[in-house]
Amino acid sequence: MKKNFLFLFLSFLICLTITSCKRTSYKKESNKEVILASFTVLADIIENVAKDDFIVRSITKPGIEVHGYQPTPSDLIKASKASVFIDNGFGFELWAEKFVSNLKVKRVTISDRLDPIFISEDFYKGKPNPHAWISPKRGMIYVDIIVDSLSEIKPSKAESFKNNGQIYKNKIAQLDKDFSLFINNLEKNNRYLVTCEGAFSYLTNDYGLKEAYLWPVNAESQITPKRMARTISLVKNKNIPSVFCESTVNNESQMIVVSETGANYGGDLFVDSLSKDNGSANTYLKMLQKNLTLIKKGLN
Ligand SMILES: [Zn+2]
Repeated sequence: MKKNFLFLFLSFLICLTITSCKRTSYKKESNKEVILASFTVLADIIENVAKDDFIVRSITKPGIEVHGYQPTPSDLIKASKASVFIDNGFGFELWAEKFVSNLKVKRVTISDRLDPIFISEDFYKGKPNPHAWISPKRGMIYVDIIVDSLSEIKPSKAESFKNNGQIYKNKIAQLDKDFSLFINNLEKNNRYLVTCEGAFSYLTNDYGLKEAYLWPVNAESQITPKRMARTISLVKNKNIPSVFCESTVNNESQMIVVSETGANYGGDLFVDSLSKDNGSANTYLKMLQKNLTLIKKGLN
């Protein structure tokens, strides 16, 4: 009888503790500041630095084309709960200026602290290429910028952001080292990356590849006969083994290059958006890994 009473009493105590813990953590959760990122890749990088100190959300969803996105009324409701808005800049989010003008948030634009590579073609000539995160070397700079920005917003957690950032950068550095090694061992004539969007300039520049593409920026996302002819002749002349397209656009134009040249289709690379929850590129690290693995396989 005594034993039974003791058991009931202990159970009661445990329940009480769990309930109060739950309540405390819920309260703590709802008090956290919300950071809104413009796209999923950036949100994931921020989450790896912020860990439990902020709630991080992305305006655009996984798998979505980001350049020409049209924010919805529910995005504005989501945004009204945020205190910080972080975007890439370099003209990536064509919608960001108007969107943020309706909000009372602190804005951090990554490109304010990045060195640009400029687009050399047509209408976009002289405009910065926005896709800097595609290169692991620049991805590590994104982490540094986010560590600094979060530390300015929450100085009491600066040490923790720095540690989180360092652990995360070590993982990116491993991919950087691995890809550099691969390129160094690749015959110089084979160092071509042919894609749909010209989104790989930072990667090709940082690792010594030559770049060719069907259109400069996804906001355009169309192929002119001149560009098609130029790409086909390059792939034929240089005997390029594989060509690629990106996960957020239709690859049918690149399939024409494949059928005209006999090159392989190397696969869908991830650029502007992560894959959905259970996809193979649902984090920035996995996305880099996936891209670099496909490129290695395609060019070997
Ligand atoms: Zn893009």
